[in-house]
Amino acid sequence: MAAGPLPSRGTLMTSIAELYALQETDLELVSDRASLEDVQSRLGDSDELEAAKAEADEHDAAQRVAEKQFKEQEFEADELRKKIEPVEQKLYTGRITNPKELADLQRELESLKRRLSELEDTALEAMDAQEQAQQAAAQAQQDVQSLDASYLAEQEELRQQQANLESNIAALEGQRAEQAEQIDAEMLQLYEQISAIRQGRAVAKVQGGACQGCRISLPQNVLQRARSRGNLVQCSSCERILYVS
Ligand SMILES: [Zn+2]
Repeated sequence: MAAGPLPSRGTLMTSIAELYALQETDLELVSDRASLEDVQSRLGDSDELEAAKAEADEHDAAQRVAEKQFKEQEFEADELRKKIEPVEQKLYTGRITNPKELADLQRELESLKRRLSELEDTALEAMDAQEQAQQAAAQAQQDVQSLDASYLAEQEELRQQQANLESNIAALEGQRAEQAEQIDAEMLQLYEQISAIRQGRAVAKVQGGACQGCRISLPQNVLQRARSRGNLVQCSSCERILYVS
């Protein structure tokens, strides 16, 4: 591509307005395709939901452990109470009169009761832990349910967006083909070349004597040529095709 203003290519069958319209279609296509790609990357992406489910599973496991621990503490305490009962009976029936035997039995009972009191304390703690674990598990389960509902709604919305974008793109592609057919091959080629290096903006409007592609003021002779219809004139700075609307 030559640098600086190109000589006029003579009278063209295609007006620059048609080329500008083609660019509008192309830009819309680029935007819709990017949106479609974004939508498709989010379709089926359930990372957040899966993480919440994994957390709920962990809470369930913790709840089962806490329940088991509480049951074990309770069981031990019950076993101890069963041991204490006959010792107390023996002691209070008054059948034992031997002071030594009586003192021994008394000590045994006190020892058993101390142990029971300790066990009852830990059983109480285990019960608290169990309650907390149950609450956490229920909360995690609720989180999963609400995430599940919003996930389904979001996916439905994304599928709708995908369908809309796909039909838009198909329509734009048809429109693009029709527009391209009306444009001179040589001009179309130039458009594609500039488009590739100017992020899809090969045609720039002229406003206030400046190229709106690069914002640089155009020399008078370039402006004059661009203003006469049928002339293909490129910006002397960015080489975009100038469009005077
Ligand atoms: Zn320019």
